[in-house]
Amino acid sequence: PPVTVAEIRKSFLDFFASKGHTVVPSSSLVPGNDPTLMFTNSGMVQFKDVFLGSDKRSYNRATSVQACLRAGGKHNDLENVGYTARHHTFFEMLGNWSFGDYFKRESLKWAWELLTEVYQLPAERLLATVYEEDDEAYDIWTKEIGLPPERVIRIGDNKGGRYKSDNFWMMADTGPCGPCSEIFYDHGPHIPGGPPGSPDEDGDRFIEIWNNVFMQFDMAEDGSVSRLPAPCVDTGMGLERLAAILQHVHSNYEIDIFAALIRAASRETGCTDLENKSLRVIADHIRATAFLVADGVVPSNEGRGYVQRRIVRRAIRHGYKLGQKKPFFHKLVPDLVALMGEAYPKLQADQQRITDILKTEEERFFETLANGMEILDAALAGGAKVLPGDVAFKLHDTFGFPLDLSADVCREREVGVDEEGFKAAMERQKAAGRAAGKFKMDRALDYSGAGNLFTGYEMLEEAASVVALYHEGTP
Ligand code: ATP
Ligand code: MG
Ligand code: MG
Ligand code: MG
Repeated sequence: PPVTVAEIRKSFLDFFASKGHTVVPSSSLVPGNDPTLMFTNSGMVQFKDVFLGSDKRSYNRATSVQACLRAGGKHNDLENVGYTARHHTFFEMLGNWSFGDYFKRESLKWAWELLTEVYQLPAERLLATVYEEDDEAYDIWTKEIGLPPERVIRIGDNKGGRYKSDNFWMMADTGPCGPCSEIFYDHGPHIPGGPPGSPDEDGDRFIEIWNNVFMQFDMAEDGSVSRLPAPCVDTGMGLERLAAILQHVHSNYEIDIFAALIRAASRETGCTDLENKSLRVIADHIRATAFLVADGVVPSNEGRGYVQRRIVRRAIRHGYKLGQKKPFFHKLVPDLVALMGEAYPKLQADQQRITDILKTEEERFFETLANGMEILDAALAGGAKVLPGDVAFKLHDTFGFPLDLSADVCREREVGVDEEGFKAAMERQKAAGRAAGKFKMDRALDYSGAGNLFTGYEMLEEAASVVALYHEGTP
């Protein structure tokens, strides 16, 4: 079977092309003209209007390998990086789509055929979930594909917190959505974790690899749903998760492309423990930040640019933790281009600009990083259990520490952060600035959400830090 990331990309597209799908290139990480979404978080984003019926294509079956980013917005995984075996900020999603053409049967059967025949995954390691009321998908799995009923698990839409997992997929808080069926791979009993739907499903033994979404609805802002013009299929499989299986490793961070990036991070930081968490974070973040620059997102103080800044600074802080005192992060760009430039030529074309922009941001942050870390260390010295809000705010305001960066340090030391206090300190400064008449509109914090493209839906995002979102839009 295919083994390398490059072979997997090609074999996936070839398989679906052989089933009549048009191969469509990856779109930008910045969704075109869509204020409901911060970044492209899945392969279906570029087809959103096709599902809704307002865009028509010359094909009704498509397949792609989509560059995705899950940092900020719905499906935020920034806080998972370095902590799970399976999450990245930037990753590649293999997908196939039916726009009013085939539906559940073909979708699930082709998924099974690809996994067990082309990729030769052992059937006994695979499990499936279906939406709890979806008898049709359940029957396809058990009666037509022949998966034993004990390995087909019904899961609802986590309303009321019944499950952590959720078999009703949504791109954002509004837009196309529908019940889904997911395929999991059992990495074996030596790894902690339970099957989907069980109390310890958060572990990394059973790893979700492929989601088949049966897109049928369009959710409006008030939560009401209407039917799409036609039932559609939207699937997404994490390339890195599949590669881990095919390369006989457990963690995404051990696959070919990550092993090489981690070696590069090791070279630049001098850390020789290749399993060090900080190396993994750096390897993850170089992909996210380089692709963001290539798609036009440069570090700034608001919106997407602020997410970019947060990711770069997190990476820098992890290098600092490994002993780096001056810019190192941008030196990974040539490694990344060597690994991914063929699949994504824009990386090659933009190599110099990416390097320059990351380097400038590094130079800037290294000016205040050491002093900020001293303040943080002092605040946490003597066994403090919580970082005071005013210290977190000072770090943010004077030393350029985004709140999530301070929180990342605190988490490593098992210390909490007083987010309410942070918010209050920010409010006070804003009021003082206003009173002094030097409050500048471009530094305004908009708590109401009006005028801030991202506040409305981000406030609903349970995983994201509420305060980190409040201060998007301020230095
Ligand atoms: P998980 O439950 O593991 O967080 P998910 O349910 O959020 O995954 P989906 O939204 O269903 O993921 O996305 C489809 C597929 O994309 C997943 O089955 C997985 O293979 C892959 N994927 C999702 N998030 C990530 C990520 N942060 N890094 C790498 N791959 C991912
Ligand atoms: Mg997720
Ligand atoms: Mg999931
Ligand atoms: Mg899923």
